[in-house]
Amino acid sequence: MEQLLRNFFLFLSKNKTLTKLAKKYGLRFGAARFVAGTDIDSAAKKIKEINENGYVVTVDHLGEFVDNEQEARESADECIHAINVIAEQKLDSQLSLKLTSMGLDISHELVMENMHRILEAGKKHNVTVTIDMEDFERCEKTLNIFKELKQKYENLGTVLQAYLYRVEEDIERLSPYNPYLRLVKGAYKESPEVAYPNKKDVDETYKRIIKQNILLGNYTAVATHDEAIIAYVKELEKEQGIARDQFEFQMLYGIRLDLQKALLKEGYKMRVYVPYGKDWYGYNMRRLAERPANVLFVLKGVFKK
Ligand code: FAD
Repeated sequence: MEQLLRNFFLFLSKNKTLTKLAKKYGLRFGAARFVAGTDIDSAAKKIKEINENGYVVTVDHLGEFVDNEQEARESADECIHAINVIAEQKLDSQLSLKLTSMGLDISHELVMENMHRILEAGKKHNVTVTIDMEDFERCEKTLNIFKELKQKYENLGTVLQAYLYRVEEDIERLSPYNPYLRLVKGAYKESPEVAYPNKKDVDETYKRIIKQNILLGNYTAVATHDEAIIAYVKELEKEQGIARDQFEFQMLYGIRLDLQKALLKEGYKMRVYVPYGKDWYGYNMRRLAERPANVLFVLKGVFKK
């Protein structure tokens, strides 16, 4: 049943008509629990509060399924605006983005032009930019773009997903670029030809790549809400004498606040991923797919006047 619901929400997350329709409305279906607002000004207020409580942030302008050059340029403009707001309001925040919203599916020239503009703004204001990882189909292209841009911009990071069979090789391949890597389990529905279908294998691979990346000396952001993985990282820290400035934990806005607080109290660097924007629909559906129990929150949202 849980698997059925998972697939159902992942199917809904890819629906272009619903994505477009949702943009016209404010946050619905319980999305306010996972999304900090539809514009950067409301997100900035939340980020300020989060910073004041001791957490660092990465802010994400939600955007998927960009159809034309103009929309991709507008998405890039919004990212630059977010960087300017981070600088003006002295927020302790990075910026996360998806290459599809910068025009990845339209043309290489377009996505590179947009990324150069954003990274120049990031460089000027000392804001790190992280490229989220999307589905397998776009993984190779994303990593090639990352490698190309990383040669010019120090302030750039990306994400690797533990569920992909290729992940350990990718860590080796990226290592010479001195990468800032966020390691995650992976949020998309992938074929067993390219990704582990069983959670147990994903979890084991996740532990292996965390160790691999840290021991290679690369800064590692462990982005998970899984207590067993977090316990593993703490053990590794003790066992290998890993310095606290070599890694950090990351969690999503609105998820496992108790765990976020506990890690902060123990003195770990804790970064909260704060999404905002009109394009909240696909993001919200993926969060529901991760934990169909969250549907209860959706139902409350639907019935709330
Ligand atoms: P799971 O095994 O899925 O969950 C462990 C426990 O966490 C669950 O039992 C539950 O208690 C809790 N939990 C997990 N999800 C939820 C939820 N939605 N609501 C409530 N409780 C929950 N994926 C990508 O593919 N590309 C990315 O670029 C990417 N960036 C990310 C950035 C951050 C900061 C984080 C935290 C995740 C990101 N993800 C990304 C998503 C990631 O791949 C997983 O889908 C997601 O983190 C759920 O897996 P988990 O590691 O928390 O472990």
